[in-house]
Amino acid sequence: MATNIQEFFFDWYPVFGVIFMACLLLVFLRLLRSTMGSTKPETVKANKTAPVLWEDVQGVDAAKDELMDVAEWLRDPKRFAALGARPPGGVLLYGPPGTGKTMLARAVAAQAGVDFYAASGSAFVEMFVGRGAARIRRLFKEARKSGRAVIFIDELDAIGGARSGSGGDGGTSEREQALNQLLVELDGFEKTDATVIVIAASNYVDKLDRALLRPGRFDRQVLVAPPDRHGREAILRSHATGKPLADDLDLTDVARKTTGMTGAQLANALNEAAIIAGRAGRTQVGREDLDEALLRQSVGSQQARRLSPKERRIVAFHEAGHALCRRLLGLDPPEILSIVPRGPALGFVGHSPQEDTYLKSRDQLLDEVVTLLGGRAAEEVVLGESYSGAVDDLSRVHLVCKQMVAEFGMGVALDHDGPPPIALPTGDYAVSDSTRRDVDIASMTLAREAYRRARALLAANRGCLDDLAACALERETLTREELDEIFASHDLHTLVEPRGTGAALVAMTQPPAVPGE
Ligand code: ADP
Ligand code: MG
Ligand code: ZN
Repeated sequence: MATNIQEFFFDWYPVFGVIFMACLLLVFLRLLRSTMGSTKPETVKANKTAPVLWEDVQGVDAAKDELMDVAEWLRDPKRFAALGARPPGGVLLYGPPGTGKTMLARAVAAQAGVDFYAASGSAFVEMFVGRGAARIRRLFKEARKSGRAVIFIDELDAIGGARSGSGGDGGTSEREQALNQLLVELDGFEKTDATVIVIAASNYVDKLDRALLRPGRFDRQVLVAPPDRHGREAILRSHATGKPLADDLDLTDVARKTTGMTGAQLANALNEAAIIAGRAGRTQVGREDLDEALLRQSVGSQQARRLSPKERRIVAFHEAGHALCRRLLGLDPPEILSIVPRGPALGFVGHSPQEDTYLKSRDQLLDEVVTLLGGRAAEEVVLGESYSGAVDDLSRVHLVCKQMVAEFGMGVALDHDGPPPIALPTGDYAVSDSTRRDVDIASMTLAREAYRRARALLAANRGCLDDLAACALERETLTREELDEIFASHDLHTLVEPRGTGAALVAMTQPPAVPGE
């Protein structure tokens, strides 16, 4: 046998050698080509297909107003030059994902009737040093060649993230080169005649290198925030075109209960609703389809898994505890209570805000913590035991309490001693160990007090709690009307206790959407 193999090798050796060399050459050529930059640059695209129209972008009027100047200038630069106006610098669109930043950039190009060149920041940060910078140079060169154009750089933070002094990851020097090239290109604008506007998008401004924000670079920063109620309605209406809606589907109502959702989420929900309706064989999208789509988005899809009778009982009391606290404390009323597993949740209580709010008082935040703890409190009050399912609630309790103390300055009631109302830098060096300890103690105190209140509230309303759980076990899902009926059939005790003055206010940059509890 052994000799056979030797013979075989001996005979075929030259052929193997040739194949091997050919492979090596191929790999080498590939490598060379990708380093040098191929003939067709993939990040540079003059996009003329399916432009986004100005009217398509809804619910972000403030941002649109600011960008209108840029679009006007791009459309007719001579008019502004005749007035002695300097060309506008770069525009940075910032805000949470899905609010329409990419859409806006496209819409500017369409509105001005110019070419649109798009690239993503992450495409400039590659393994080979210098390639990202070369790509940026090429992107600007192409755009300038076309005369009037919009250059859109998505995910600017991928290249323009604040420089960390320590270096570290291998991509740092590559990123540095790309960033420097971008700065060079931005500064080179005034010296060329080409009318090119750079629009960039990022989720945060404060993460960006300061050098990018200097005058003449991205000196216009435009917040693209999640839409308000009217904005959401406009977005829903525009995405509903082409979808036959049933009479019971009221988009004004949907807009009301989708606080905090972005344009992308709203568009998704509508699309999902259409799919649900289609699968059910309906010819119109109804209210139930959209409600189901919204639940899928916020909590998850219904799960087929069945719980044992014992576990169903635990879940029923847990959810009843949330719903009852929510109602007793006068937060947004519970609109649905379900013990059908959905996504990762074994059950959930849904609620929707009555209106958009941007401020939350200390009392309100504390009441939310009490409500979050209402599930666990019900387990203890009724079943005399605690269960692991509450983990999600409990980690949110930690988050809110910590935020109240360390960021909102609400550690203690205003007339008490305790951590003063200052916001501490998050996860940072500048906080001393003793301050950190004070924050821990204060936030634990808030949580402990909230848990005491949750238990007291449920114990004082035991009849209603039992009734809620029994109905949930019987019907699996309780609607707003069914819940209200149960609440109305009991004398509810709210245990009014003296609390903080409620004068401390906090600006919520983004109204938090709190789905299932
Ligand atoms: P971003 O760039 O901010 O992450 P996109 O512009 O990519 O968001 O939006 C993704 C999708 O969501 C869009 O294609 C559109 O369908 C929908 N969308 C987002 N914001 C809006 C809006 N303001 N008006 C209409 N549709 C929107
Ligand atoms: Mg985008
Ligand atoms: Zn819970």
